[in-house]
Amino acid sequence: MPRGGARLLQGGPIAAEIRGAVAEDVAGYVARNGRAPVLAVVICGRDAPSMVYLHQILRSCEKVGIDGRLVEVDGAEPEARLVDAIRALNADPAVNGIIVQMPLPPTVRLRPIVDAIDPAKDIDGIHPLNAGLLRLGYDGFLPATAHAAVEILRRSGVEIEGKRATVVGRSAVVGMPAAFLLLRENATVTVCHSRTRDLARHVKDAEILVVAAGRPGLIRGEMLRRGVVVVDVGINVVDGVLVGDVDFESARRVASAITPVPGGVGPLTNALLLAHLVRAALAQESGTAPGASAATNAASVPARAPVPSADTSAATVGGASVATATRGAR
Ligand code: NAD
Repeated sequence: MPRGGARLLQGGPIAAEIRGAVAEDVAGYVARNGRAPVLAVVICGRDAPSMVYLHQILRSCEKVGIDGRLVEVDGAEPEARLVDAIRALNADPAVNGIIVQMPLPPTVRLRPIVDAIDPAKDIDGIHPLNAGLLRLGYDGFLPATAHAAVEILRRSGVEIEGKRATVVGRSAVVGMPAAFLLLRENATVTVCHSRTRDLARHVKDAEILVVAAGRPGLIRGEMLRRGVVVVDVGINVVDGVLVGDVDFESARRVASAITPVPGGVGPLTNALLLAHLVRAALAQESGTAPGASAATNAASVPARAPVPSADTSAATVGGASVATATRGAR
């Protein structure tokens, strides 16, 4: 461990690298198709934090040449309107990817919305088909945040294979997919949640700790094993300041490496979403099936064996790679 605390795992430089690769892929797409790839961002209601996040995505789209479009749904019966809006975007061949603002308004059920998205345009991996592909070790669209949590480890040269990894949080969009990705990387994974009886024990045991609980200060330095690598996915605003779920100052004195908040997982999430969009656009351009390999300029997605227990193969998307099958899995 370096003197004076943990190595900082910064998302910014990795995100910049990915965005550069994405911009190249976008330029190629534009040259071949005479138009930019399109990302539709569907919003319903005006949840302030998610509006900030969505506007950030639209700005990032602009920087790499993606046509980001805001689709606003309001009025009575928001669930039915949202489903209609999503179906119209599915049917529009100019639209390559769709993301829907979360959280949804309280009157809108999640399941019909998630089910309505065409899996081939589901670039944040929330449709059950993509979730299932991830679970089985195939290569669908990954939820961008979970992808970022693991990609930041890979790109920072952190060895994952054989390590004890604890994930705190089991949401469908962050905790669980992060756990499955770590398992694919051959870590031994423990998933903790709000009903876990002895969180401290599982945290202490971890050589890699991914925290996605949405609870500021949940994890403190004294809970950690010396030399642990900490990925803090949490985003919380406390007294007007953005903080993660990990108490950074105490944790950095014990960990060997840690992602800062802000500046860790967040920027990478954003860049990976763009990479997923390009992958969707290229797959649609070449007529390949959802989740099938698409050769991007930034990086290619190698063909994979059709069985999930096949040897590890690295899937690379917009310059971001995650090994997507297990080696000798049991
Ligand atoms: P969520 O509320 O859906 O899930 C939280 C999970 O944490 C649940 O599984 C819950 O059981 C668990 N949990 C809550 N309190 C706990 C406790 N005391 N002990 C153990 N487990 C506990 O949240 P989410 O959507 O998964 O998001 C998690 C965090 O990640 C939030 O802070 C969110 O803002 C952040 N987030 C960050 C990004 C990013 O780009 N960095 C993107 C999405 C979400």
